[in-house]
Amino acid sequence: MNPLRIAIVGLGKIARDQHVPAIVATEGAVLTAVASRNASLAGVPHVATLEDLLRAGPPVDAVALCTPPQVRRAQAAMALAAGKHVMLEKPPGATVGEVKPLLTAAAAAGRTLFATWHSRFAPAVEPARRLLDGRRVTAVRISWKEDVRVWHPGQAWIWQPGGLGVFDPGINALSILTRILPQPLFVTSADLAFPANRDAPIAASLSLSDAKGLPIDAELDFRQTGPQSWDIHLDTDGGPVTLSSGGARLTTGAEQLVDAPEDEYAGLYRRFVALVAAGESDVDLAPLQLVADAFMLGRRRTVEPFEDAT
Ligand code: NAP
Repeated sequence: MNPLRIAIVGLGKIARDQHVPAIVATEGAVLTAVASRNASLAGVPHVATLEDLLRAGPPVDAVALCTPPQVRRAQAAMALAAGKHVMLEKPPGATVGEVKPLLTAAAAAGRTLFATWHSRFAPAVEPARRLLDGRRVTAVRISWKEDVRVWHPGQAWIWQPGGLGVFDPGINALSILTRILPQPLFVTSADLAFPANRDAPIAASLSLSDAKGLPIDAELDFRQTGPQSWDIHLDTDGGPVTLSSGGARLTTGAEQLVDAPEDEYAGLYRRFVALVAAGESDVDLAPLQLVADAFMLGRRRTVEPFEDAT
């Protein structure tokens, strides 16, 4: 079979750090073009925009949309209309409702729409899901705290409506949680801290639950300096389980079950190639729905203005 010819759209931080090396390393995929207004890659054909790519760029089978969420729906619709398979970076949209029409368009066009959740491809996530399958979970505590100045320097879009603020990383925790627990979850309360000069939260405290009243607490914070935390602690009838380092490590009590280097994007591209070959799409909106519900239910507090040092 011919390799899947992929164009990256939006050559920013995640495209450079992860998509480029992952495509290059994936059997059955080839990086054919980059569409980015202000960036290019040596040795890879370049156009400025998706429109240019579709009109006059090198032929491609698929696009990987690595742009901010606020512009992705229109780009995905355009690419699907042009007969391209589409990979969406997370979150799949700036709203929940805008994604379904894309899935309908993909089905009508016979193309693949893959709404990625990269954290679900962290090495300890599937082992955690299998481990928990045989246990009763009695409480969950999430701590997802990072320094926005380190991880998102100068990214204005993250603070704009639809940019999600601290939920941009926080949704990764929710994507893991909704994978390792089989039952539907919902938000029961949310406290959102908005900097006085920004349109998205810098911190959030969430409570979630399930139909049986499972207590789930999540602390998300963009103001973390020093050690960063991307951890999910679960109390179970078989003892404590901790998924840490963003899903790279799994421990039960004192025993370390998984401690592996992260390789999430290789997994994403293997899945994309397989989905295209099978003629299928993969779109799970559960994590985005939880974030939308947190915004809907959330009590908003105004906190001190945030100044990006960069
Ligand atoms: P980024 O560094 O700001 O890169 C996004 C790129 O998209 C920009 O470099 C820009 O390239 C293009 N772009 C920006 N605004 C645009 C607009 N209005 N219209 C068209 N193109 C635009 O952001 P990022 O960190 O890579 O994040 C992109 C997405 O990946 C986000 O949804 C984020 O949640 C997700 N993600 C990020 C990370 C991370 O660690 N940073 C990790 C996982 C997932 P040009 O100006 O050259 O067009």
